[in-house]
Amino acid sequence: QSQELSQVQIDYHAALQALVEDGTRMVCTGRMHTDRVCRFESLCYSTEAEEFVYFHSNSSVMLPNLGSRRFQPALLDLSSVEDHNTQYFNFVELPAAALKFMPKPVFVPDVALIANRFNPDNLMHVFHDDLLPIYYTMQQFSDLDVETRLFFMEGWSEGVHFDLYKLLSNKQPLLREQLKTLGRLLCFTKSYVGLSKITTWYQYGFVQPQGPKANILVSGNEIRQFTKFMMQKLNVSLEESSSEEYIVVFSRTINRLILNEAELILALAQEFQMKTITVSLEEHSFSDIVRLISNASMLVSMHGAQLVMSLFLPRGATVVELFPYAINPEHYTPYKTLATLPGMDLQYIAWQNTDREDTVTYPDRPWDQGGIAHLDKAEQERIIKSTEVPRHLCCRNPEWLFRAYQDTKVNIPSLIHVIRQTVKSKPGPKRQKWSGSLYPGKVRDAKCQASVQGTSEAKLAVSWQIPWNLKYLKVREVKYEVWIQEQGENTYMPYILSHQNHTFSENIKPFTIYLVWIRCIFNKNLLGPFADVLLCST
Ligand code: UDP
Repeated sequence: QSQELSQVQIDYHAALQALVEDGTRMVCTGRMHTDRVCRFESLCYSTEAEEFVYFHSNSSVMLPNLGSRRFQPALLDLSSVEDHNTQYFNFVELPAAALKFMPKPVFVPDVALIANRFNPDNLMHVFHDDLLPIYYTMQQFSDLDVETRLFFMEGWSEGVHFDLYKLLSNKQPLLREQLKTLGRLLCFTKSYVGLSKITTWYQYGFVQPQGPKANILVSGNEIRQFTKFMMQKLNVSLEESSSEEYIVVFSRTINRLILNEAELILALAQEFQMKTITVSLEEHSFSDIVRLISNASMLVSMHGAQLVMSLFLPRGATVVELFPYAINPEHYTPYKTLATLPGMDLQYIAWQNTDREDTVTYPDRPWDQGGIAHLDKAEQERIIKSTEVPRHLCCRNPEWLFRAYQDTKVNIPSLIHVIRQTVKSKPGPKRQKWSGSLYPGKVRDAKCQASVQGTSEAKLAVSWQIPWNLKYLKVREVKYEVWIQEQGENTYMPYILSHQNHTFSENIKPFTIYLVWIRCIFNKNLLGPFADVLLCST
């Protein structure tokens, strides 16, 4: 990986002339600043002003052209965290003629992806906010390939996980600070600005208490495509149905400790008759952790960012998340949400310490490590007496931090009991079982035939053909749902049927028009689309 901008020869005078004549061109996807990603030609950046610059000329394009709505509040989010006011992107505008009076532009020949990392020191944030969104933004735009240059504009230094960001393309990512060394006015030949949010599953509680995102769009399949890519880059091979099954305890060594870790490991090994190992970010290389987790049957860890590594667990494995005293597991669910994404095929178990005797608090530490000594006495006492942290907003709630940074002596019988409620026999990856779920198409050639008996009775014979895709599928159970609705009424009679025809006589009146809605259902819960409504007159 080369630190310098690639040595692709560009004809400087031609590039400068094109910039002056054509100006900047921008076309974006997305309707709102929160779902927008923009493609630019000749977007510039002044390292002195620390501003992006859009040059107007006769050929420049700006779509969307929002006028001053571009500042209400911004053109787009530069990180994948929705509508965070420290992460907005915008540019200032100049006529291309102003270039005459400006520093000579330095052209960036690489295709650039320009974005903000949200919190590069926290592993959960690294994967959820940055790596997955960057990976899938690059999948979305074919210009963004292995030769893409990533530009991180949030202003942080590399951070402890920078090696992970380097895996996403062949070129060394550049940080905002480094741009100064390249020149006073940088012009990106071709660039994309912003990140797709399509893979994110969690909101951190900036405007409402934290929780799963309202409309999750990612499934285990896409998560595992990403982890497969990462494992290839890390040179970790998936050991096929490898010999021994084992449990991984992912420990923290600085804070939020498990105080009886040795006892815990022995107990897990004994209960499940499996080898049990510990890993930590401090004592193992990232590749080693991925290698161990990707073949584990169970991952046990305190609540915390290291649990995002369950991304790498094999299907069928179990995640056990331990919560310190007074922290309600239901209120902090980034890892539960991940483990229970459709198609992740992980079992998730939460255990909480409910015994005050088993917790160790640190009231005298600095506030950001959970200390509360800076609060007034009454507030300190209230917090110490409280048995549950009330729901709160991110990120500096002292009661939350106080409880989050407790150490815990895990009550072993209670933990084993909770795990055993879910894991009946041996935990472990279920190999080979393809659990992808495919939906039925519309039923075809629906027909109805009415018959009237006398003045008060009628029958409706309805038939249809199987959905077109069914003949290529092996489906355990195929059912049909039929709704019969009298025209003009709001209610309908629903039926679940096993065959492709049925004669309805209940509540069918003569000389009436009925609307008949039919859809196919695979395996009880895979609902297909309704076919075009069938009009039947008795
Ligand atoms: N961390 C760690 N060991 C520790 C404490 C923290 O590896 O003993 C890591 C943790 O996984 C995360 C980062 O340091 O990537 C920041 O941890 P913090 O407690 O601030 O965040 P949390 O884990 O609660 O999200």
